Amino acid sequence: MKKIVEKLYSQGDVTDNELEALINTSDEAAIKLLQSLADKTRQKFYGKKVYLRGLIEISSYCRNNCLYCGIRCSNKDADRYRLSREEILSCCENGYRLGFRTFVMQGGEDPYFTDDIICPIIAEIRDKYPDCAITLSLGERSYESYRRMKEAGADRYLLRHEAADEELYSKLHPESMRLETRKKCLFSLRELGYQVGSGFMVGAPFQTTKHLIADLRFLQELQPQMIGIGPFVPHHCTPFAGEKGGTTELTLRLLGIIRLMFPEVLLPATTALGTISPDGRERGLMTGCNVVMPNLSPVGVRKKYDLYDNKISSGDEAAECRDSLRKRIEAIGYEVSQERGDATGFTV
Ligand code: SAH
Repeated sequence: MKKIVEKLYSQGDVTDNELEALINTSDEAAIKLLQSLADKTRQKFYGKKVYLRGLIEISSYCRNNCLYCGIRCSNKDADRYRLSREEILSCCENGYRLGFRTFVMQGGEDPYFTDDIICPIIAEIRDKYPDCAITLSLGERSYESYRRMKEAGADRYLLRHEAADEELYSKLHPESMRLETRKKCLFSLRELGYQVGSGFMVGAPFQTTKHLIADLRFLQELQPQMIGIGPFVPHHCTPFAGEKGGTTELTLRLLGIIRLMFPEVLLPATTALGTISPDGRERGLMTGCNVVMPNLSPVGVRKKYDLYDNKISSGDEAAECRDSLRKRIEAIGYEVSQERGDATGFTV
């Protein structure tokens, strides 16, 4: 098994059969080697730096009905909110003061945020914070919409492909949603010059090792600048309420594999990983991750952006607890970077 890890490290790829063996192995020595080579690879390209992104959750309204997600439109118990222009700008002001140089505006697919509404907000942030990166994560939109938002000043876009296997994708999403559409969006974003982030959930219902391999292969085709993966965590008001969640171990395994397959990618230690395990994020950072995305949303709405049960949004997860987050990062030997943190080799 160690040979497979070494091959993945030296060649950046292995066969499907080898991937399958590595994903399922319980060989402790191989797992340890994967972790240390993932860390070595991240340090080769990014040193000890950890980039911070301030996450502003702009709306919990969503027209979609993804089976795993707590803010799906048919969840009548969801407490919905949307931020005003003023609230979004004040999050940025607060974030800038706290030292953030990337703002991520994420939300459900809220029809309220038309291009005519969102573009002037993007332009205003662009104008006020020329040294900051603007990242959007607003789901599927038209090519023209992505184009207008880019022109208004957005730099990056996060849209997980969620599942690269057609059949699994259709089990996780309503019939109105298509894997093909998702892929088309991702390739449009890339063509428009966005730095693109994609990814998937680990341990989603019905997901097998074959599906995970398909996800890795799709990512090789897309070559995104960022890859976001986190464990699936059930939400009590969804059809998947009674399903098992993804594990920390499997998530870490995939993070290590991804770092070796995509040496220069930006890899966040996600909130979901921090939610299922108190030291999940630290372990992620030691297994190739180099990004953390603290919550910069107004405190009053944080609980309402309720994607899955027990989602952490306070304590060290909160942007205002930056000093304590910094201490945790330094305690494991890494350092918080003040830079925008673009992917290496990507000219902006
Ligand atoms: N509407 C935007 C933002 C979605 S929320 C979009 O479609 O891109 C961001 C991510 O949270 C999703 O891509 C999904 O992978 C993840 N997510 C949603 N529900 C989850 C759950 N129950 N457990 C873990 N992750 C979840």
